Amino acid sequence: MLRLVTKRSFSTTSRVLTTATSKPLTKAGDGFASAIGNTPLIRLANISKSTGRNIYAKAEFMNPGGSVKDRPALYIIRKAEELGLLKPGGTIVEGTAGNTGIALAHLARSLGYNCIAYMPDNLVKSKLEIMEMLGAQVFRVPVVAADDPLHFNNRAKAHAESIENGVWANQFNNLANRESHIETTGPEIWEQLDGKVDGFACGLGSGGTWGGNTAYLKSKNPNLKSYVIEPPGSVVVSYFNSGFKSFVKEGSSFVEGVGAQGRVNDNVMQDIKLADGAFLVQDTESIAMLYRLIDEEGLYLGGSSALNVVAATKVAEKLPEGSNVVTILPDSAHKYSTRFFSKSWLKEKNVWDAIPDNLKKYAAL
Ligand code: PMP
Repeated sequence: MLRLVTKRSFSTTSRVLTTATSKPLTKAGDGFASAIGNTPLIRLANISKSTGRNIYAKAEFMNPGGSVKDRPALYIIRKAEELGLLKPGGTIVEGTAGNTGIALAHLARSLGYNCIAYMPDNLVKSKLEIMEMLGAQVFRVPVVAADDPLHFNNRAKAHAESIENGVWANQFNNLANRESHIETTGPEIWEQLDGKVDGFACGLGSGGTWGGNTAYLKSKNPNLKSYVIEPPGSVVVSYFNSGFKSFVKEGSSFVEGVGAQGRVNDNVMQDIKLADGAFLVQDTESIAMLYRLIDEEGLYLGGSSALNVVAATKVAEKLPEGSNVVTILPDSAHKYSTRFFSKSWLKEKNVWDAIPDNLKKYAAL
């Protein structure tokens, strides 16, 4: 226990800090891109205890742009440069739930490009503000069906085609997305656990994170079990569970960044056959876990991180005691605080009662 008053307890403090910082440091790198990746893998100590398995969470919120999308954004840009599609002063256009746009906006500024983003108007406004503060031009557009020309993703494509030296990042079908995880996230996880990875689960947005990590980790351990996860109102779980024949959309969710609507895109199609199962996580489960993660682990995370940890605990139950199950923490709570920590918002969404009474104190807004 740390007491900060006596000389002796100061030395205790410094010993603790020495332990925490004694990991090998990476050498200085050049520019924003050099800070992407090499994120910590955190064993969720208390949540692991309650399952009898080890739940490990990859802290992707610690990337310099604050999310799991920094890695694919960089890969997409580098690939476009290599192919000669993106030239100095060019413009990157993307349809985004926010984090890809934020990652592209950071990278565009640091590499000398322009950035334009289209984002559905039901998503939290702070993401738009961050993109704008990074110099991106952002269009917040109504939610429509995926095959409608006015869908945010189709608008981004059309916009890129209409301007000179414009490139559509196309995170949904651009396989540089999953490749970023095959080449960086997956190998990091494998090394961080010395090759003992038994299970993997995470939510799918574009599917790059799930597909890339699953493909890499299964190439190293063919016995690894990997599960496709979505919130209600998404289609990939039903596509998998129908034996790849059809998909249905039932319900809706306020968890941002995950859940495919109306289509199964190329990054998902590439790896979906590797899945060992697929299931939905309800918003009530995600919100309760969001509050548990604060209370038990001191982690302040976004909704998809909570959904992912719920999924990991469920996958853990399917595996023998002592197994290592890995999931992803895609982003932190900062962007969502006005929603997830607002009593009135939680009540309006009918999830207030899902938060255990002793944890309701964290809803400070
Ligand atoms: N969580 C959040 C908060 C995200 O922004 C995203 C990306 N849309 C994901 C999860 C899912 O990542 P992916 O696109 O790799 O499936």
